[in-house]
Amino acid sequence: MRPESLFPAFAPITSLKGCGPRLAPLVEKLAGGRVQDLWWHLPSGLIDRRYRPRIAEAEPGRIATITLTIDRHLPPRTPRLPYKILGHDGSGKLTLVFFNGREDFLKRSLPAGEQRVVSGMLELFDGQPQMTHPDRIATLEEIDQLASVEPVYPLTAGLAPRTLAKIIDHALARAPELPEWLDPAYQRQQRWPGWREALLAAHRPEHAADLEKHSLPRQRLAYDELLSNQLALLLIRRRLKRLSGRPLKGDGRLRGALEKLLPWPLTGAQRQANAEIAGDMASANRMLRLLQGDVGSGKTMVALNAMLLAVEAGAQAAMMAPTEILARQHAETLKPYCDKLGVRLALLTGRDKGKARVALLERLAAGEIDILVGTHALFQDDVVFHDLALAVIDEQHRFGVGQRLGLAAKGQRDKGGVDVLVMTATPIPRTLSLTAYGDMDVSKLTEKPPGRTPVDTRTVSADRFMDVVGAVKRKIQSGERVYWVCPLVEESEQSDLAAAAERHSSLKQALEPELGEGSVALVHGQMSSAEKDAAMEAFAGGRAKLLVATTVIEVGVDVPEATLIVIEHAERFGLAQLHQLRGRVGRGGRPGACLLVFSGPLGETAKARLKILRETDDGFRIAEEDLRLRGAGEVLGTRQSGLPDFKLADLAAHGELLAAARDDARLILERDPELATERGRALRVLLYLFERDSAIQYLRSG
Ligand code: ADP
Ligand code: MG
Repeated sequence: MRPESLFPAFAPITSLKGCGPRLAPLVEKLAGGRVQDLWWHLPSGLIDRRYRPRIAEAEPGRIATITLTIDRHLPPRTPRLPYKILGHDGSGKLTLVFFNGREDFLKRSLPAGEQRVVSGMLELFDGQPQMTHPDRIATLEEIDQLASVEPVYPLTAGLAPRTLAKIIDHALARAPELPEWLDPAYQRQQRWPGWREALLAAHRPEHAADLEKHSLPRQRLAYDELLSNQLALLLIRRRLKRLSGRPLKGDGRLRGALEKLLPWPLTGAQRQANAEIAGDMASANRMLRLLQGDVGSGKTMVALNAMLLAVEAGAQAAMMAPTEILARQHAETLKPYCDKLGVRLALLTGRDKGKARVALLERLAAGEIDILVGTHALFQDDVVFHDLALAVIDEQHRFGVGQRLGLAAKGQRDKGGVDVLVMTATPIPRTLSLTAYGDMDVSKLTEKPPGRTPVDTRTVSADRFMDVVGAVKRKIQSGERVYWVCPLVEESEQSDLAAAAERHSSLKQALEPELGEGSVALVHGQMSSAEKDAAMEAFAGGRAKLLVATTVIEVGVDVPEATLIVIEHAERFGLAQLHQLRGRVGRGGRPGACLLVFSGPLGETAKARLKILRETDDGFRIAEEDLRLRGAGEVLGTRQSGLPDFKLADLAAHGELLAAARDDARLILERDPELATERGRALRVLLYLFERDSAIQYLRSG
């Protein structure tokens, strides 16, 4: 149960003063719908109103807070002219200027004959001090409050800065004192304030330096978030391991036979990964291993090897892919080998319904299927294995931690836990993989199968569109096939689709007269799986020569005849994504080429990023460099990546804190495994604050 002290954090923003039905949707869009979302909405700038000169001494071009006596109002003679108000102090005169000023309002707030405080940009007009639209107008009593430093928050259209700042103030007033969860010695060494103090300080910057990610309050808040992330991952991992593994040993019969079937020798990296996995599976601990390797590095064979080990040991294995296309392709790749080895493989996707599905599930429960390949349809409750020992999860950064656990839970209780092997083609930098997977064991396929030439990668400007179409045509006329990837539009999937559909029809018009009807196909994420499969099959089978696609192809389809990939609006993709996309071509022995089409001039960072892409074919290096150049949020195209989206921590800036948080989390659980000490209980509050409730459920209550 969430502790009561955190109730304010989870209250809706509509409970805040000034955040009514009109503003709440705007605030929610900007920051989120709960009070704590406003706590994390940190200022991006500040306005210093502490400069309080006399009028004659005021420096023009600077924000000044001035006390003056109001002399006269000069309403405009025609509405287009400004409303002017004259005032003075002991040193000189000041004119206040208002365009479209409302007379009644101005007369009330700046009454003639009285003293008032105004704050805003002071300028000289014809040599006379003038202030156009003061930002703030106040009475003398309010001056101390006014003449301070105001935080400036990131905004959204329709929300006035002052309005938002006030709502955030109300949210901050609700921030509770929470028990300290940091190690006192570490906190002292870092000179970090307490949580609430840090939060308030982060919202009250006094100098530009206070806005930086390295300022002490912001570091502290980022660390809290990272610590909660690492602690939660450790708890989940410990739970998985505790579900006890089972020593799985095979006699090598199937794996040996597989090696003889393969037309090529395994690479050294594959052998090494096989050995690491076999070691994990043989141990009594549950395996939790991440298999990382570029597209085309041969992960599928490593997965098959592991699954055959499970089958040799008399158990079952499952392999889950994020899309139907990919699940099918895995099944098609693996089936011929399995058939020859006498291993029974079946495919289960969301499309299987009715009698056929029931029959398949019966065979599965009876142990008449050895390997089941599928989509998340494998999670459904009625999918019952006879004896599942290994779950392979492909490209799993699209699945959440919870889903990983879900498949692992399909093992038989009496027989021990399910080993988990996670495969990802995205070479995730160490820092990022820590946040997404915690300390999973990692096998890397750094070496690619021989005979691969790097994909020839070039950039072209969108102005040369017709040249690109010409290049596509030539490729197709020489018997090759081409992918055309359409822009990823951040705002909505709908616009992605519109762009892809439009491109599809214009390419059809440009190419089909010469290349023949049906030679340009389209596939996107909103098609039914039958439509997708039809389009993919047309392309794989060669009826379609050009496949226009949104990024659904990213996740691993294999068409050896494809040698060119055109990526439109390449500037909108992450480097790792571009690298993955280009890995789709040149897989069939013929060299591959990639055209990155850009709109508009390229900035320095964009140029530097592309240079890396042209220079290296090493996905791990690309990912590290991209992280360095752009920051974590964008590296993987977070929108789809499923990687944690930190609110406060920025891995490019706070990478060292992540390592510290990991060590801290380890030590905490070593000393206080159930978070039962005083600090442990404070850490539970931290976990709740960052909504790691699912991890808390793995603790004994107390
Ligand atoms: P990944 O899943 O890592 O993208 P795949 O397992 O699909 O890579 O392998 C890519 C291609 O390389 C497949 O066509 C596969 O048959 C082939 N392949 C795998 N291992 C080897 C190897 N050791 N030598 C040569 N080709 C290999
Ligand atoms: Mg693959």
